[in-house]
Amino acid sequence: MSLLDDARQLAATGPVCDACLGRVFADRSFGLTNAERGRSLRVAAALDDDEPFDPVDTEDCWVCEGRCAAFDDWAERAAESVTDIEFDTYQVGTRTPPLVEENERMLREEIGADADAGELFKSEFNREVGKLVGRLTDTEVDFQRPDVQFLIDFDADRVETEINSAFVYGRYRKLERDIPQTEWPCRECDGSGRQGSQPCDHCGGSGYLYDDSVEGFVAPLVEDVMDGVDAVFHGAGREDVDALMLGTGRPFVVEVKEPRRRAIDTDRLEDDINAFADGAVEVEGLRRAAYDMVERVKRLDASKTYRAVVEFDDPIDADALDDALAKLDGATIEQYTPQRVDHRRANLTRTREVYAASGELDDDQHATVEIHGAGGLYIKELISGDDGRTEPSLADLLGVGARVTALDVLAVEGEDEPFADEDYFA
Ligand SMILES: [Zn+2]
Ligand SMILES: [Zn+2]
Repeated sequence: MSLLDDARQLAATGPVCDACLGRVFADRSFGLTNAERGRSLRVAAALDDDEPFDPVDTEDCWVCEGRCAAFDDWAERAAESVTDIEFDTYQVGTRTPPLVEENERMLREEIGADADAGELFKSEFNREVGKLVGRLTDTEVDFQRPDVQFLIDFDADRVETEINSAFVYGRYRKLERDIPQTEWPCRECDGSGRQGSQPCDHCGGSGYLYDDSVEGFVAPLVEDVMDGVDAVFHGAGREDVDALMLGTGRPFVVEVKEPRRRAIDTDRLEDDINAFADGAVEVEGLRRAAYDMVERVKRLDASKTYRAVVEFDDPIDADALDDALAKLDGATIEQYTPQRVDHRRANLTRTREVYAASGELDDDQHATVEIHGAGGLYIKELISGDDGRTEPSLADLLGVGARVTALDVLAVEGEDEPFADEDYFA
């Protein structure tokens, strides 16, 4: 059968609108809308038969039941649902009514075509409404990770709108001790601040073990400027609560859920955070990031540079320290899981590189050393030897007991590439 015969047969099933008719042949003649295809076939059949042309009112269509006349209406409803939301990209989805799906199958069966021949209602609706939404809101369609996701739900007669998170990347320094990276809810009261009717005496009723956290200084301000409903802090690893984070700082991403603002002034945000944290924490290099920066910050292999204050059991001299550090510089270290580490972690021997080691004596029983090592190198054990579980160690090389009394982080850098890759910024 010819194309025109197929079209005649489909048109004879009852009133079928131009779009529903044309959609069956959507894989023919690129550059036409389905409504143009449908109308052209109807015109061509009328000419071929030399019959009067008989247009079909979309409202009367038995397949879509008039829904193909409603692209504009749905696009306007979608645009209206986000008038106070700032976004650059969007995507439109459609929940097709089961009845329309069934009608589409029946229509195609009529000419022995596959159930999904041409294009289905859902794809046409997504595309046609999508084009109009883009025009109405002056934004771009994005099929990967749009800022806003619209879902047209015919049966519920509403547009569901999902606003995807926005992200801000930066690096932080922690200039005071005893500040955890993230908020640390009290384990006695699960963060409620109460035990029964009494204030929790473990945390003093605050619900938190520490009054301050890096997250607490940073995330609420990002959430506020982006006008979101929640904010989550993602760090590139974390230092101990009692360790400082100095030098170039530690990469982090703040994720703001359901933001109403995206194009924020990150320089001003940086100033605001630094003023609010008042010297306890500093941030720098704030930039809007793409969603996959979260995974990058959490997963990218990173080397660390530490500064450790070391105490020795017996006096040592400067030459011995220099010799020992020279042996650690560039050494491969074997570390059996440290005794202090959570016993739920697998016990095994890990091999880690020390990229650089240097330092000097403060007095004959104290030194300050700097170690640049591969991610996962345990520094306290590299110094103490951890009862022979770490080899070599500074204590072993010196033949003197040694322990870390203060440990600070000076740098956290990607092993093979920097965290701040242009592909991961918004
Ligand atoms: Zn129709
Ligand atoms: Zn508590």
